[in-house]
Amino acid sequence: MAADVYGRLGVRRIVNAKGLATRLSGGLMRPEVAAAMAAAAQHCVDIAELQGQASALIAGWTGAEAGLVTSGAAAGLLLGTAACVTGLDPSKMNRLPDTTGMRDQVVVVRSQRNMYDHAVRMAGVALVEVGLPDRYAGAGVRDAEAWEIEAALSERTAAVLWVAGPQARPPLQQVIEVAHRMRIPVLVDAAAQLPPAQNLRRFIAAGADLVAFSGGKAIGGPQASGILCGRQPLIMAAALQQLDMDVELAEWQPPPGLIDRRLLKGLPQHGIGRPCKVGKEQIVGLLTALELFLAEDPAAREAAWQALLAEILAGLPAKPWLTAEIRPRGAVPGLRLTIAPVGAALDADQLATALAEGEPSIRVDRSQAADGRLWLDPQALAPGDPALMVARLQAILAS
Ligand SMILES: *Cc1c(COP(=O)(O)O)cnc(C)c1O
Repeated sequence: MAADVYGRLGVRRIVNAKGLATRLSGGLMRPEVAAAMAAAAQHCVDIAELQGQASALIAGWTGAEAGLVTSGAAAGLLLGTAACVTGLDPSKMNRLPDTTGMRDQVVVVRSQRNMYDHAVRMAGVALVEVGLPDRYAGAGVRDAEAWEIEAALSERTAAVLWVAGPQARPPLQQVIEVAHRMRIPVLVDAAAQLPPAQNLRRFIAAGADLVAFSGGKAIGGPQASGILCGRQPLIMAAALQQLDMDVELAEWQPPPGLIDRRLLKGLPQHGIGRPCKVGKEQIVGLLTALELFLAEDPAAREAAWQALLAEILAGLPAKPWLTAEIRPRGAVPGLRLTIAPVGAALDADQLATALAEGEPSIRVDRSQAADGRLWLDPQALAPGDPALMVARLQAILAS
């Protein structure tokens, strides 16, 4: 029964060569992580105590003062923003997302705007966009500069959001410098910045006040998990707005490393982060996955990805209009299929559709299909998947 859990539900399994996309259910979990979650499900604990231990472990792994297991990086952005708005004031926590009279703006570079920043706005703040990504026009060379961020900061600024990535401008160091001059915290969206594992420490080491990571991407934790790490008072504020608050202050003994009760004039109600609660299974699963991720040899991880892609490459039928090549894509290699614009039996979109509509359904990265390219990502492939993909590709390309 457990072996065919999806079949029992009448849901098709897919071969996920798109990568760690949430809409394709992320990646695969190591058996050790799944086993730890199953074991966690057999005993109850005090969830604040568990988050307290998680905080200490995350602090050790990231170099941050404290950390919290969240239900994803997006939840971390919501909780982190809320923490920057309210600080440790329970009356402000209770009023969110109404930010009347509070710091109600988050400054962000316009070129870093993306669909995940809805999670920041959910806390009740307005995004203040800065800079002009002039390079889009071809002739331009500029993006936002640090002085432009500085000019947008005011007593209404709760935080500066910086979305990590190779293209992010201005550099984090400059953003931190101008924000900290006005004692404004910097919140980093580092959801997809792993691997390399060193990035777990990099943004904190640079001075970021809060950093959000996905647990369901490369860490290999539960798909709906993540980490928020950073300064202790901010993590405390985030924890208070995520934890269940059906407690009485007098008898509540939260873990002192995570929540310093003496700093609270009262207990907040269920906070704005209560809908993003995490269970004991997610917390244990994330911690187990993170420990394994950090212990893994990066060269062995790369070799395993290369081997999956090489198996597909070796099985591709030769066609004069099809070229295939394994190439680096950021920190992860991909197999790139390029279809010539003339003389091909089908175009990239048609090939992607044929793969998706077959049995099993094979999903690839078709974001560059208009340019004749499909990408296959190894991160969510199971050992038997390359053989299935080769068989389907041969059948489609033969017909
Ligand atoms: C994936 C991603 C998120 C969301 O992460 P979840 O863990 O799925 O909530 C946020 N920001 C960026 C840049 C991402 O790539």
